[in-house]
Amino acid sequence: MSLLLFGAPGVGKGTQAKLLSSKLKIPHISTGDILRQAVKDKTQLGKKAEEIMNRGDLVPDNIMIGIIHERLSREDCKNGFILDGFPRTVKQAEELDMLLNEMKIKNLKLINIFVDEELIVERLSNRRACRSCGKIFALKDIDGLKKCPNCSAENSFYLRDDDKEDVIRKRLKVFRQNTEPVFEYYRKQGKTISVNGIGSVEEVNSSILKILNS
Ligand code: AMP
Repeated sequence: MSLLLFGAPGVGKGTQAKLLSSKLKIPHISTGDILRQAVKDKTQLGKKAEEIMNRGDLVPDNIMIGIIHERLSREDCKNGFILDGFPRTVKQAEELDMLLNEMKIKNLKLINIFVDEELIVERLSNRRACRSCGKIFALKDIDGLKKCPNCSAENSFYLRDDDKEDVIRKRLKVFRQNTEPVFEYYRKQGKTISVNGIGSVEEVNSSILKILNS
């Protein structure tokens, strides 16, 4: 099974993708994580992507398509995968379709998670990342903590530049303009599933699994 996790920034795509990946035993591929790792490692790609990401803009299609091409050609994707954050433009979707044709993958589904925009702004500006391991936490879950519960790094929580309110609003605008048409692209092919993203992580996850198994 191959899944595209779709939705505005902050709807919980990453969290759901990780859970689905461990339940369905297929790899979770987040293009945002790949780019953040490149920024951390100060690679050529990272140097190009950093400023674009901090502005809330999209990294050019040709770069993203190259990344996905390389990642999907690895052995662990043979039995399926979960893409989180890709495709973000119709051009990326078209290129992905061509690639999946070559790979003879047919059973693709797009899972659209929807949440009200104001709730997204509240959720994203109230989350913090660990500078050391990259794990994301809701502010309320780390209130008063000095050490990261995941890697024990000290005083490592920070607000990602792309989670600042003005950047979040910019990312939501970019989503409406560039990424929403991707939903229509797959809807016309009869490949979309929509799920309400409000509720606990487990509730949203079981709604997704219920629809996938029906
Ligand atoms: P994410 O963690 O998926 O929200 O991605 C963080 C940032 O990485 C985005 O705001 C974009 O700047 C960049 N990015 C991630 N995936 C893509 C993609 N498929 N196309 C273009 N830019 C991307």
